[in-house]
Amino acid sequence: MIDTRNRTRPTARALVGLAFLLAASASPADDAPLRVIVLGAHPDDCDIDAGGTAALWAARGHQVKFVAVTNGDAGHQSEGGGALARRRRAEAQEAGRRFGIAEYEVLDNHDGELEPTLAVRQQIIRRIRQWNADIVIAPRPNDYHPDHRYTGVLVQDTAYMVMVPNVCPDTPPLRKNPVFLYSQDGFQRPNPFRPDVAVAIDSVVEKKIHALDAHVSQVYEWLPWVESVLDTVPKEPAARLFWLRQQRSGRPLADDVRAALRKWYGPRADAVKDAEAFEVCEYGRRPSEADLRRLFPFFD
Ligand SMILES: [Zn+2]
Repeated sequence: MIDTRNRTRPTARALVGLAFLLAASASPADDAPLRVIVLGAHPDDCDIDAGGTAALWAARGHQVKFVAVTNGDAGHQSEGGGALARRRRAEAQEAGRRFGIAEYEVLDNHDGELEPTLAVRQQIIRRIRQWNADIVIAPRPNDYHPDHRYTGVLVQDTAYMVMVPNVCPDTPPLRKNPVFLYSQDGFQRPNPFRPDVAVAIDSVVEKKIHALDAHVSQVYEWLPWVESVLDTVPKEPAARLFWLRQQRSGRPLADDVRAALRKWYGPRADAVKDAEAFEVCEYGRRPSEADLRRLFPFFD
């Protein structure tokens, strides 16, 4: 026998309210601020992958949040554990302030140990929903670093689940799937990165370098140690900022990134020195060219 005790017919008022909510969420005003969430494995990855584009969005009043999926507590040659996690959290907060973004959250998962578990997937589903994201950016799921790779897998695995009400029912689902984008990398297998969108960041490259400069434990200590160039890092702050700029800007752009810049900017693309590129993930919402021009309001 079917138990009907808890079955109630929806009232007309409730249906009208529901219809209004659906209409409102399905047709956001074209001039509403965009809501962008960038996820990286470590507290500096979002900055490197999408910091310039984030600064451009933020300067136009759009809402950008960075999320580091691990706390970075393995990323140093002589420090570690809770003390390093606290240092890196503070560095990330300062970098977020320098970029001008709305939030920089560091999740308390151990660095170097990230796995694509249901628990971490749920952490990410909740973050994307709470941010009510229009755009989600994350690494591709093939990368030398397992934390990067699994961040890619984890975010990709949310690209439908963010809309499913019975998944993480404590956090209201999104009514429209965001556009999911991969950030650029140089890996060739099983397929190379495809720059669907390329953003010129010359106007904010100084801001990006200044923000990266906040990650002292990384850009001046850990990464140079990994690359055996620690003895080339100047000690004096202005000199090391100059050194960082030499490392991080003005590198030759890949031919396909230059071609993508030409598609979006026309002939002006030839003068661009620094860019960030993104590939559309086929599991999220499939944007048209007009959608991408609305989501990346930088090309005119
Ligand atoms: Zn990383």
